[in-house]
Formats: sequence, structure tokens, C-alpha cells
Amino acid sequence: MSIQTKLFINGEWLDGEGSIAVIDPSDESTIAEVSLAGEAQCDAAISAAHAAFAPWAATAPRYRAEILRRAYEIMVTEADQIATLISRENGKVLSDAKGEVLFAAEFFRWFSEETSRTPGDFRKSPSGDKRILVTHQPIGVSLLITPWNFPAAMATRKIAPALAAGCTVILKPASETPLTAIYIVDVLQRAGVPAGVVNYILPIKTGAMVSRILHDPRVRNLSFTGSTEVGRILIRESADLVLRTSMELGGNAPFLILDDANIEEAVKVVLLAKMRNGGAACTAANRILVDRKIAKEFTAKFVDVMSNFKMAPGLTEGAQLGASVSLRERDKIAEMVDGAATAGAEIHIGGKAHEGKGAFYPPTVLTVKEDNPILSQEVFGPVAPIVLFDTDEDAIRIANSTEFGLISYVCSENLGRAIRVAEALESGMVSINRGVISDPAAPFGGVKQSGLGREGGFDGIHEFLETKYIGVEI
Ligand code: NAP
Repeated sequence: MSIQTKLFINGEWLDGEGSIAVIDPSDESTIAEVSLAGEAQCDAAISAAHAAFAPWAATAPRYRAEILRRAYEIMVTEADQIATLISRENGKVLSDAKGEVLFAAEFFRWFSEETSRTPGDFRKSPSGDKRILVTHQPIGVSLLITPWNFPAAMATRKIAPALAAGCTVILKPASETPLTAIYIVDVLQRAGVPAGVVNYILPIKTGAMVSRILHDPRVRNLSFTGSTEVGRILIRESADLVLRTSMELGGNAPFLILDDANIEEAVKVVLLAKMRNGGAACTAANRILVDRKIAKEFTAKFVDVMSNFKMAPGLTEGAQLGASVSLRERDKIAEMVDGAATAGAEIHIGGKAHEGKGAFYPPTVLTVKEDNPILSQEVFGPVAPIVLFDTDEDAIRIANSTEFGLISYVCSENLGRAIRVAEALESGMVSINRGVISDPAAPFGGVKQSGLGREGGFDGIHEFLETKYIGVEI
């Protein structure tokens, strides 16, 4: 597979100032050297996006829809190739990578359909003195910053609604996974996106360059997915020019298994919620809260399935758990588990980083007390801490005792009870008896320090639109 490695600015592939190696975390080999953007290239990307904005915003919605639809079709046709690239630069197994590509492509399809469906409003004012006309307009140049854990889906979840709304974009992916971003930009170019509408940069110094971009008055919107820590910095940076921001930040999802849950089903559902993407998901079940009455049976069955999970390089036939994205990320996981053990965790399986080449960490199950420090950290790996509770109220209290509020999970055979618990959980999303609920047609996002705004669903396009009210004398 030939791999593009340059910056993409104003419809052209350009060299930058120096380069950085993209590493395959399964064997620590170099996959490619990609160009880095200095100030000149960052400024050129802003100029290109700014110049392209007015003509792009003026295009017919159906014109934009057809480009997005073509991008969807190209991605689906080339899914195997893109999945292989994701697996190589991110470390995840091929089945997870393939699932991600198809999910990522769906954002192009969903927002191609949404392009011409933004409702407005026209009505008589209550006093009858005028007409109220409400319309929506694209915000303008949008900076899109994405993480490494879903390098395709996090990019398309932003690019698709931005383009559908009529915004132009500058995409800045994570330094670990730029190749997938480059591939998606190439797909968009082949789908017919005009020059300047989509630009891709990988800055030399992330913090300083992003700050420079956010202080250019031609940029009007920031859409960020990543850690809460970086999100806080970017909210502050965006304050100077009062930018619109959308923040999809960290999670620390509680998974509640009530005493009437079907235990066999609960094991399957937790396995999916914990181990999809090797546990490197903002939606990953990070705190498995189990009713004490069923904890022994659940733990034995869960440990059994986790022990049979096959860890191997992502492209290996039958691999279920690949490498973490880097040795640094793998070491973070190891440090959290060591800390949990020191604080008294009972380790059922795993708990020690793999020795030898590659950023591997094995499936790990712990039973911990409610005050164990691992419960207050976002573990981005295959580590499942189990905590016992005695009543539903107790479970809700433990689940809500976090600064995060992205997603929660509940397993119960009693739907009314599960919904009552769901309503009491402080999170933007709740999954009942399912391991995955992400869907391009549904609003994804968190409360508390897990973020601001929603991606996907009918809300997603509004992150890139401003509401305009026109009052008409009549
Ligand atoms: P991260 O360290 O916050 O990085 C995310 C992005 O921000 C990367 O592109 C990174 O660029 C950039 N960045 C880092 N420091 C920056 C700064 N000072 N100014 C501007 N940009 C900066 O997160 P990550 O480790 O890649 O991803 C994992 C995190 O993402 C987890 O917390 C996870 O929960 C969260 N996440 C949330 C969602 C959601 O939808 N809520 C989805 C996926 C992931 P460099 O790579 O160049 O540093």
C-alpha cells in the first residue's frame, strides 16, 4: 500500500518543516515519516479554509450531500485497506479496525442525508406586530482536533457535519495516528471536495500552533475530542476570541449489574463494553459495579472469558486484543494497575505488562474497594476493576462519584427498574443491556467534565451552525 505522508492545504499535498515517524506499536517499527507543519503551513491552512468558506457555504445542500455520499461509498469500498492502516498505526486488532471504518463511513452517509434537512421557523409574533423568521447559517472556519483511539471515526464525526453545514475545516489529528487522517482527507478529495474546504496539518509544536490558530480571527469554531485535561486548556484558549466550542472529553464509565441481571448476558455485554478497541475507548466500562448477591458467580464467569481473550499483534488471524498505541500509553496502564494493587486490589488475572517487543498489556480483572485510586482514573486499556454494592441507591452513588459523565451502563431484567436507575445516573448517555450504543443517528456526548455539545444525531450539524433570527415588519 503506498502511503501519502504530506500536509494537505488548499487542495495540494505539500511538504512542511521536518517530519515525524509513525510507529507500529505492535513491533515498534517505523511505518512512515509524515510532514510537520510550521507557522507558515498553519497560516496557509487558515487562509485556504477562509477563502473557500463563502463559496462552499453558498453551494446547494444537495451538492454537498452528494460529495459526502461519494466519500461514504469510497470508504466502504476501501474498508479493508483503511482498516489495515488503522491497525498498523494504532495497534488495535483488525476486526476492531474494520468495525471502526464502517462506523466512520456512516457519519458521511448520515450527514449527507442531514445536509438538506435543517429546519427553520416562520411565524407570527405573539403580539402580532411582526413575523419571526429563524434560519441557520454555517459558523465558518472550524478547527477539528482528534485523538488516536478512533483515528477514522473521530475525524469523520466532525468533518461530515461541518461540511454538511457549509463550514470549511482544518483537521489536526493525534501525532500517533496521522496516516488514517491523511487517508480520509484523500478520500474526500477523490469524492470531489473543492480546494481549501478540507485542510490537514500536523503541527510541529501542538500546543503553541493550536493556540496560534485559535487566536486568528478568521477561525470561528473549535471541535475537540480528547482528554478532559487538554479540553480544559482549549476552553481557556478559545475564550480570548469567544469561539464556539464543542468538547468530547474523557469518560470513566460505570457498569451497573443489578441483582436481577441475566449473568450470562451481563458477562457478554460487559466484555464488549470493556474490551472493544482494547479498552481504549472513552465509552469503555471502567468501573464494574456488581450487586454483592451475584458478585461471586459473575466474577468467576467474567474472569473465565477474559482469560481466553487472545492477545497478539493487530493483523494476526484471530487476534482479539492488540497493542496499546505506544509504550508510553502501555506504561500508564501498568502504573494504574500497580497503584491499585498497592492500595489493596485483589488481582484475578493479568496485572503485569507483557515483556518483549510491542506495547502489549494483558486482560486484567481486579476486585477493589470503593476508595481504590484506580476508580478515579480513566484507564485506557484492558483492565476491569470490579466493585461490590448492596443496594441500587448505593450503586448510583458510587457511579456518580466522579467528575466524568459520558456514558453509564445498566444490566437488569426489569426494564422499569433499569430506566429508573438510568434516570438517576449523571451521564450524557446510558446503555441498558447493551455493550455498545454509539450510532451516527444518535446524539453522542457527555455531562459534567466529559464535555460540551453533542456529535451525531440531529444535534451534530448544529455544532457547526449558528441560529439567525430575522424580524420582519409586516
Ligand atoms: P489528548 O492527549 O487529549 O490528545 C487529543 C488531541 O489533542 C491530540 O490531537 C493531541 O495532539 C491534541 N493536544 C494535546 N495537547 C494539546 C494542546 N496543549 N493544545 C492543543 N491540542 C493538544 O487525548 P488522547 O490521549 O489522544 O485521547 C484519549 C482521550 O480522548 C481520552 O481521555 C478519551 O476519553 C478521550 N476521547 C473522548 C471521546 C469522546 O467522544 N468523548 C472520544 C474518543 C476519545 P498531539 O497528539 O499532537 O499531542
